[in-house]
Amino acid sequence: MGNETMAKASEIRDKDLRQQVTSLVERWQGFQTKVSERVASILVEGRAGLAQIIEEHALDSGPMGTALTAVQTRFQGVDRKVDEAWEQLDESFDELTDDEELDEATYDVIWTVEQDLRREVDALRATIETTGRSLEVSSRADWARNLAIVAEQERSQPLTCSQCGAPIERSVFWQSSNVTCGHCGSVNGVEPGAASSTFYQGGGVEALCQERAWPARQVELAAEEAYKHLRHPTASDWAQWMAAARAYWTKYYETMGELHPGHGQPVAEAVANRLAGYGAYEPPVEKVHRDFFESLCRASAAGDGSAVRALLGQLPVGVDLDECAECLMEHGDGNGARTTFMVQYRVEQETDDQQEWLAEQMRSLRETLSD
Ligand SMILES: [Zn+2]
Repeated sequence: MGNETMAKASEIRDKDLRQQVTSLVERWQGFQTKVSERVASILVEGRAGLAQIIEEHALDSGPMGTALTAVQTRFQGVDRKVDEAWEQLDESFDELTDDEELDEATYDVIWTVEQDLRREVDALRATIETTGRSLEVSSRADWARNLAIVAEQERSQPLTCSQCGAPIERSVFWQSSNVTCGHCGSVNGVEPGAASSTFYQGGGVEALCQERAWPARQVELAAEEAYKHLRHPTASDWAQWMAAARAYWTKYYETMGELHPGHGQPVAEAVANRLAGYGAYEPPVEKVHRDFFESLCRASAAGDGSAVRALLGQLPVGVDLDECAECLMEHGDGNGARTTFMVQYRVEQETDDQQEWLAEQMRSLRETLSD
């Protein structure tokens, strides 16, 4: 992506301006390389430290948790530096485009270059976050695997009847249970050992489920990010996020069923409960808006001008024409945004020159979306 961005920057006709833009791109690329190296070294050091702590504290996840927090703080420090670097870049770009004399074509090129860099910044920050989260998931799973070995040893210890001393066997090892002695008939209350109880009730199994479901969880996190990044998401955007959430929780509970003999809840039911939580706190109007924007985007993408105008003529409460243009634009439909502004021009009885007014609206729309 970096070279393509550079190729775009070199299209700028004005030599001075071109040099300024290419040097911004170069500065970013140098910074990006340094950040990647820094993230890699934090990861290596973090892994080594965590492996030792897991080895030393099999039954207690506390020290691992503390060590993980320390590593996350280092990742967050790098993330903050990236954010600061972006703010500076953004300011430099604003200075370059804040020029009334700038022709629209040049403005477009600079805007596109800035958008490219912005995507790279977002991707870099996402990588930093994912690296931190992955380390946490794999460390907790390593701890759980170590704990499972201790739990296994615990379970193989012989048990005897408290009344007659005859050997008894337990079939439930993940929670307290009653075992009837085959010799004297006494009922023995049997507690799981410390390792078993931590493994089954204190985060061990969960850690292994999280690890198994981690690829699906990453897909879900990306879907959530994409959804929340949108100013005006559609019903399809929501459905995409929910499909990713469903896949993640399904993997999670399938693994739970496999690893935890005491987990009786059917996968479909457990997943449905989780999914119900996703939309539980949003006001119902959100769904109304998503459905409306869905219809708008579909009609516009299909080139159905009369359907688009009909939709724009009966906006749901809380949606205005500017927002319709924003929605279409952020879903990659610049023509749809233009059509919306034409409707707005007529509705609001603008008197300025239509082409100039339209160009101004499109320009300010891009600025809004790049904020
Ligand atoms: Zn007995």
